[in-house]
Amino acid sequence: MTEVFHDVIVVGAGNAAMCAALSARETGASVLVLERAPEEEHGGNSTFTAGGMRFAYSGIDDLRKVMPDLTEEEIARTDFGTYTEDQFFDDMGRITEYRTDPDMAELLITKSLETMVWMRSKGVKFQPIYGRQAFKVGGMFKFWGGMTVESWGGGPGLVAALHARAAQDGIEVRHNARALSLIADDDGVHGVVARIDGRTTELRCASVVLASGGFQANSEWRSRYLGPNWELAKVRGTRFNTGDGIKMAIEAGAMPWGHWSGCHAVGWDRNAPPFGDLAVGDGFQKHSYPFGIMVNANGERFVDEGADFRNYTYAKYGRVILNQPQQFAWQIFDQKVVHLLRDEYRIKQITRAEANSIEELAGKLDGVDAERFIAEVNAYNASIREDAPFNPNVKDGRCTQGLKVNKSNWANTLDQGPFVAFQVTCGVTFTFGGLKVDTDAQVIDTEGDLMPNLFAAGELVGGLFYFNYPGGTGLMAGAVFGRTAGRSAAISALARNKVRVKAS
Ligand SMILES: Cc1cc2nc3c(=O)[nH]c(=O)nc-3n(C[C@H](O)[C@H](O)[C@H](O)COP(=O)(O)OP(=O)(O)OC[C@H]3O[C@@H](n4cnc5c(N)ncnc54)[C@H](O)[C@@H]3O)c2cc1C
Repeated sequence: MTEVFHDVIVVGAGNAAMCAALSARETGASVLVLERAPEEEHGGNSTFTAGGMRFAYSGIDDLRKVMPDLTEEEIARTDFGTYTEDQFFDDMGRITEYRTDPDMAELLITKSLETMVWMRSKGVKFQPIYGRQAFKVGGMFKFWGGMTVESWGGGPGLVAALHARAAQDGIEVRHNARALSLIADDDGVHGVVARIDGRTTELRCASVVLASGGFQANSEWRSRYLGPNWELAKVRGTRFNTGDGIKMAIEAGAMPWGHWSGCHAVGWDRNAPPFGDLAVGDGFQKHSYPFGIMVNANGERFVDEGADFRNYTYAKYGRVILNQPQQFAWQIFDQKVVHLLRDEYRIKQITRAEANSIEELAGKLDGVDAERFIAEVNAYNASIREDAPFNPNVKDGRCTQGLKVNKSNWANTLDQGPFVAFQVTCGVTFTFGGLKVDTDAQVIDTEGDLMPNLFAAGELVGGLFYFNYPGGTGLMAGAVFGRTAGRSAAISALARNKVRVKAS
């Protein structure tokens, strides 16, 4: 079969890829999307998300541009605050230990609101994340942590909306189509070799956008680049992101870039399956630890659970849990805070213990030194400064004093049974190392030169995240860089086509 020539081939069919495809199409290019997964598993990690998006907004007028359906009643009972570009810059700097690439961060931040409005124009709907990012105090919801909006229907809703628009715009998506290598020579990239429904096929095009995710689902690469024991982590999302796009680009001369030994990893149910389960989505995560304590197999606390709002700590605590003996922890809460626990604590597929006293609970925490656990809780309860009132909406400064590992905020005594406990291990979300791109999302080679006709977006781009990650930035970065990559790829393809037509 002779394959039709496309202006742009996009590798992957998650958020970054579909934003790239839609953007290339609106710029006038013909587009083919190659998706490794079968249709029922398409959309990559993006499908597994809750759809939380971090973007800069100056107040309710900006939010209305993204959520025109906001009601007056919602506005009246909510303090949405602001999340300015400066705050976003501060967060990207602080959270990445000031290693984030400033040019990439600037593109992400300054284009974030505009890209949200663009996504909305493509049929993606958004709503406030009540419950997860705002608690009701004194009759008012107050948002915190810079993440205020999620897509309708979470990740599945986001991916469905992007694919629906792609179909409407005449973009073909091939499933069971695994890109294997780039067709490249001294003049740049001219296509992709892919295995489609088991057949190896050469697909020629003018530009390629790689958006096939990180290497988190490749256990051999995880242990090679992230380090010892990372092969033992569970993968939170898709099984298809095994680093193919990164490998293909590096083989063609691209520069590896970013934090190759870094990744996003969280506390994840100890007995979750090895890869994500779409029926559960992100429900295996356990992110309410700021309101309780976490102990390891020795019965000891090992991390400041209240160091910051959870969306500034959750992405680095997976690694901390992986480094504990036997790679697990138990999260413990008492009745004072149970009503604050996120929905994911009420799913059926959960590793949970409950008891009326701490002593009884100690006997139920699988793998934990019971005596040391009881001593740890007693020491913790005795160390809390009661002078600051507990308030989940602000960093309340209610801390412990004098412990080896202190808790900085939201420290409450564990004294009102029944006590509940949840066992977690490390769940890896996505890897931080990848390819180097410029602010047109064009891939840069090992000589520091632009690689003709090759663009990249999403998880497989390195340079934005180091050590940690502010929640909601993955989808936003994928959308901003995806949209940019699609436009750049289309412009480059259309210019080359003109030259080709003239020459023929
Ligand atoms: C459980 C969970 C919850 C999350 N929650 C959030 C959240 O609320 N907000 C947020 O911002 N981020 C969240 N993230 C992170 C977010 O999912 C990613 O940052 C983002 O989706 C990455 O988008 P992407 O398009 O780069 O990759 P993906 O969405 O993973 O897409 C990669 C695509 O490439 C395809 N592919 C892989 N290899 C090949 C190949 N060789 N050929 C063809 N196709 C290939 C895959 O099948 C997939 O379609 C979450 C992640 C997980 C796992």
